[in-house]
Amino acid sequence: MSEFSMDLSEDQIQLQKWVHDFAEGVVRPAGSEWDEREETPWPIIQEAAKIGLYSFDFITQCFMDESGLLLPIANEELAWGDAGIGLSIFGSTLGLAGIAANGTPEQLVEWGPQCFGTPEKVQLAAFAVSEPDAGSDVSSLRTRAVYDEAKDEWVLNGTKTWITNGGIADIHVVVASVDPDLGSRGQASFIVPPKTPGLSQGQKFKKMGIRASHTAEVVLDDVRVPGHCLLGGKEKLDERLARAREGQRSSGQAAMKTFEASRPSVGAQALGIARAAYEYALDYAKERKAFGRAIIENQAIAFKLADMKTRIDASRLLVWRAAWMGRTGKDFTSGEGSMSKLYAGETAVYVTEEAIQIMGGYGYIREHPVERWHRDSKIYTIFEGTSEIQRLIVARAISGVHVN
Ligand SMILES: Cc1cc2nc3c(=O)[nH]c(=O)nc-3n(C[C@H](O)[C@H](O)[C@H](O)COP(=O)(O)OP(=O)(O)OC[C@H]3O[C@@H](n4cnc5c(N)ncnc54)[C@H](O)[C@@H]3O)c2cc1C
Repeated sequence: MSEFSMDLSEDQIQLQKWVHDFAEGVVRPAGSEWDEREETPWPIIQEAAKIGLYSFDFITQCFMDESGLLLPIANEELAWGDAGIGLSIFGSTLGLAGIAANGTPEQLVEWGPQCFGTPEKVQLAAFAVSEPDAGSDVSSLRTRAVYDEAKDEWVLNGTKTWITNGGIADIHVVVASVDPDLGSRGQASFIVPPKTPGLSQGQKFKKMGIRASHTAEVVLDDVRVPGHCLLGGKEKLDERLARAREGQRSSGQAAMKTFEASRPSVGAQALGIARAAYEYALDYAKERKAFGRAIIENQAIAFKLADMKTRIDASRLLVWRAAWMGRTGKDFTSGEGSMSKLYAGETAVYVTEEAIQIMGGYGYIREHPVERWHRDSKIYTIFEGTSEIQRLIVARAISGVHVN
């Protein structure tokens, strides 16, 4: 049996430093500009592609890491630089996760690299589940996928909303209902390849935070995709639908399988924002003088920092545990993936708010980044399942009761 250790390996430390250097040198200095511009930071994604950070190979290396920690480590460092830009860089990973969770190995090989493109021609991916009337309640999706047997094509119709990279992505992974009577068990995921007619961007949203990340509606109007774009294949889908119609348990819903895999990474992004704000506030508290002494000499301030640091470290432990469990195939018997995202997301909101408080008026103005980090943090209690939904998952897992 291998010895228990919480030390990172040499490789992990090296990767952490590599991403951190990029975050410090390129991402952090650009955070404010792209927040104001509210646009996808293409030049920075290209920089990331040039060094191999934005690439299918890098993400594959992270997925393969035996401990599962590489992806959360990279996400934490990048979000430490800036969460909006970080999401523009790692947003495509959610599309890839949709393919990895539901597709065949052949589909992953075919479509995975296209989620990122090359340094010369950067591409983006999007994962489109949410709809105007179906956010938390994924079972009530209205987007329909109908099979045209004569042509071996699927026809998609519906409107998706709040989609990261929606409409500007080259690869859209779309979750649609194949059999509405079966709710979420009647859903499947489809690849919509680049430039497919009928897919267009609807409204682009103006947001409170992560404004460097593009969020928009995706309209699907008679979008025809070849049969092989159904992730997992038709045979498997037919088997799954038959089991569901007989009332048997199925092996998981299309959207949920993706979210289970991605939650620790999303938690790690929240953790990165929290750490950035904590470090900034700590430095400030040592410098700022009031009543003739540094404000950190007041317990009221020092205890805030102690609580911030404690919650950040607790978040990291939860995130790393969930990532490790996911990678090593352990069952999330207590909703550990949800716990990690829930706690890290709420910690980011709490820590960034406390950082503003510690900095007083300076925390509230745009001269310092903490007000932006606070705005950025809030999305982490909303997307990829709200905090309430994460609590539901944990509550149901620990009790065995269908808590409502
Ligand atoms: C910036 C941004 C980026 C996004 N990116 C993507 C993306 O790339 N792909 C994608 O598919 N989606 C994306 N989303 C959508 C996001 O996942 C949803 O907004 C989220 O799941 C919540 O859904 P909703 O907004 O419809 O809220 P609702 O489901 O309407 O919930 C409203 C409130 O009711 C609570 N609530 C609902 N049901 C229950 C319940 N049973 N018990 C207790 N409380 C409940 C919720 O917790 C919440 O507080 C994004 C959203 C934003 C804002």
